[in-house]
Amino acid sequence: MRIECIAIGTELLTTRRLDTNSVWLGERLASLGLAFHRKTAVGDSREDLTMLLREALTRSDLIVTTGGLGPTFDDFTKECFAELLGVDLREDVQSREDMLAFYAARQRVPPASNFKQALLPMGAEALRNPVGTAPGVWWQDPPAHPGVRIVMLPGVPREMKRMWEEQVEPRLRALAGAATHTLRMVVAGVPESTLDERTREARQRHGHLDWTILASLTQVELLARGADPAALATARTDFLPVLGEDLVGVGDGNLEDAVLAALKARGETLAVAESVTGGLLASRLTAIPGASEVFLGGATVYSAKAKVALLGLDALRLAQEGTVSEATSRALAEAVRDRLGATWGLGITGNAGPSAEGGAPVGALFIALAGPGGTVAKALTIPGDRLDAQLRGMASALDLLRRATRIG
Ligand code: ATP
Ligand code: MG
Repeated sequence: MRIECIAIGTELLTTRRLDTNSVWLGERLASLGLAFHRKTAVGDSREDLTMLLREALTRSDLIVTTGGLGPTFDDFTKECFAELLGVDLREDVQSREDMLAFYAARQRVPPASNFKQALLPMGAEALRNPVGTAPGVWWQDPPAHPGVRIVMLPGVPREMKRMWEEQVEPRLRALAGAATHTLRMVVAGVPESTLDERTREARQRHGHLDWTILASLTQVELLARGADPAALATARTDFLPVLGEDLVGVGDGNLEDAVLAALKARGETLAVAESVTGGLLASRLTAIPGASEVFLGGATVYSAKAKVALLGLDALRLAQEGTVSEATSRALAEAVRDRLGATWGLGITGNAGPSAEGGAPVGALFIALAGPGGTVAKALTIPGDRLDAQLRGMASALDLLRRATRIG
């Protein structure tokens, strides 16, 4: 189901008000195993709104709007939809009564402009508003768009939320019928674009599934959604040879989980010596419960002084090789492995910027892995800001270890 959100209100285009409605709706959808494929904010302009609704009708199965249901001149969501779909508005008796009751309860008389709120497009259903005066709209199979559902909700967050939970979610559950299942494959060490290309054919073979590629600085996720668990299991089998050694795991885990699990299975341990990442690697690993079984610890050796004092690196060699160099990353990995008696030692050094340092250009990183079979090292160039370089350096270090400890 392709679901689109349209937040209506000129104030949402300024810094005065953020569109929090769509964020909240997105979270609620996720709890149903659903997600938006698109979100837009649009001002209170008939022309812009009509243009957007016309597009939405061609590309989405469910369109959710918030705002523009009120009584004022700049509220015209229902009118725009009705006009676009060629139907008239009719008065909904229940909505009129609800509104009269709302005012009566407050001993007030509704202003004439308010009666407009009880108007609904022909063929649509009202969503009652228990906390305000503007009813929402549920419109299933509008003219010339069989299978499409339109949901119009008020912009006021409190009203929107109540109506969504009490009236829209039950309808969506009934529609969705069978739950959606997800296949999540985590990949590391491959740029998103390469992964996209490499998996294109396989994704086409499984074109009935809904595919997404989600890249972060540390890993790439390949997600497939579908109603049939057997189809997802087949896709999984089919993708194993395509992803090969780059596949970190299938399911909930991330890169660091996979590394710790592999070490645990092998009965091996790890120590880290971090310069440029300043403890990020240790922090990532220790965020996982049970890390203590395999992660012995390490040192944050940011300065040359710390590298010498804590890990016993040779001061003269350090000055000759440069703190940011392959030789230094190797020395760090070997020293920390040795001092802690670990199976593996990871060393990471580099220059995260903003200026060239120790003879190394910004973004130059060196990662080394010392293990039972010797030491391997890798040089990286990571453009971007400091945190980018640190996160990607950390992920590369973990990935180097993951590849060395892969089982099967
Ligand atoms: P209604 O359909 O409820 O009459 P409206 O468009 O007439 O909606 P507005 O007066 O535009 O209502 O907005 C009511 C309140 O809700 C305002 O405070 C507005 O900033 C807020 N609001 C509207 N849309 C959003 C949104 N997408 N996210 C967060 N707040 C919103
Ligand atoms: Mg508005």
